[in-house]
Amino acid sequence: MKYTPAKPPLTGETLESLTARLRAHGEPAFRARQILDWLYKKRVRSWDGMTNLSKPLRAWLAETFELIPSSLVLRKQSEDVTDKLLLELGDKSLIETVIIRAPQEGVGVDQSRKTICISTQVGCAMACAFCASGLAGLKRDLEAGEIVAQLLHVCHREDERSPRARPELASFDNIVVMGMGEPLANYDAVIRALTIVNAEWGLGFGARRITLSTSGLVPKILKLADEPLGFRLAISLHGATDEVREKIMPVNRAFPLAKLIPAIRTFSEKHGRMVTLEFILIEDINDSLEQAEKLRDIARDLHAHVNLIPYNSVAGLPWKRPSLTRQERFADILRAARISVTLRREKGHDIDAACGQLRLRTEKERELTTAG
Ligand code: SF4
Repeated sequence: MKYTPAKPPLTGETLESLTARLRAHGEPAFRARQILDWLYKKRVRSWDGMTNLSKPLRAWLAETFELIPSSLVLRKQSEDVTDKLLLELGDKSLIETVIIRAPQEGVGVDQSRKTICISTQVGCAMACAFCASGLAGLKRDLEAGEIVAQLLHVCHREDERSPRARPELASFDNIVVMGMGEPLANYDAVIRALTIVNAEWGLGFGARRITLSTSGLVPKILKLADEPLGFRLAISLHGATDEVREKIMPVNRAFPLAKLIPAIRTFSEKHGRMVTLEFILIEDINDSLEQAEKLRDIARDLHAHVNLIPYNSVAGLPWKRPSLTRQERFADILRAARISVTLRREKGHDIDAACGQLRLRTEKERELTTAG
């Protein structure tokens, strides 16, 4: 599943790797910082925009690197709070990046808090039964530079909407690595990308505002627990017993709850922070009161936060969202035990917000166009 682009993207270079490339080309080390400053702070979109570099150096950079390894092909907006960006990669693969705005009272939508949801693979091999991204399986892993570039596209989009008050800052408040793909199955590229996003010479974005989500790859959760950067962790639990979890998440066969729960505990003890348990509520699959009670016990044991997400229907899949009353009854069982719980208010339902749906729809349209 390895993809080798014709030219490596600049967005995949660290300060060290870029310095080494420039030195080998006979350039002084400080050029690397200048170039990364143009990319991440001044956010130029062409090599010619890097005006303090000589013309021959700009020409060499253009021959050697891709500036940004993806292009925006479609943007869908939902009620002005959620933007979905569909990006095309060098091999024509499509990925999705979502901007979720949290409107605040007395604050315009452009100034509201923004969470960016990024993808880490094209498709996904985990085959969760309710998910659009897993329908066609895994096509390939994303390169680190392709992951970072999603955030640059968001910055460009947000810079267009409203000028930045402080140009050195990123244009958003949180990153959730929860889009298409299983992030921990593409571990090295994801950690490299997030290291670039976090670095002061990169986007300078705090690790504590970055949440990695996993379907439950136990060995990788333990590896993540040893990373020096303190990312947050969210677990896609979606079933509070092996019986229910296994029905909808094949990963549970390799890593049942008896292995997963101790790994989560290890992570939260090492990092001293609350893990989030994501739980998509699906009618008659995992929304029983018995599941709520089991989930309450797991959350209490792990001192975890629970995020309940009413299911977004996916064309071609039979699952449904439970009624509002049933959602509230489920949440009440957790609330009664003083578990920290959120029942997510819908955002972006009308723009294919369940992960992978916009991409799937566009690929189908492409197939139809090609076939026609
Ligand atoms: S829910 Fe996440 S891990 Fe499961 S198939 Fe979808 S993208 Fe993959």
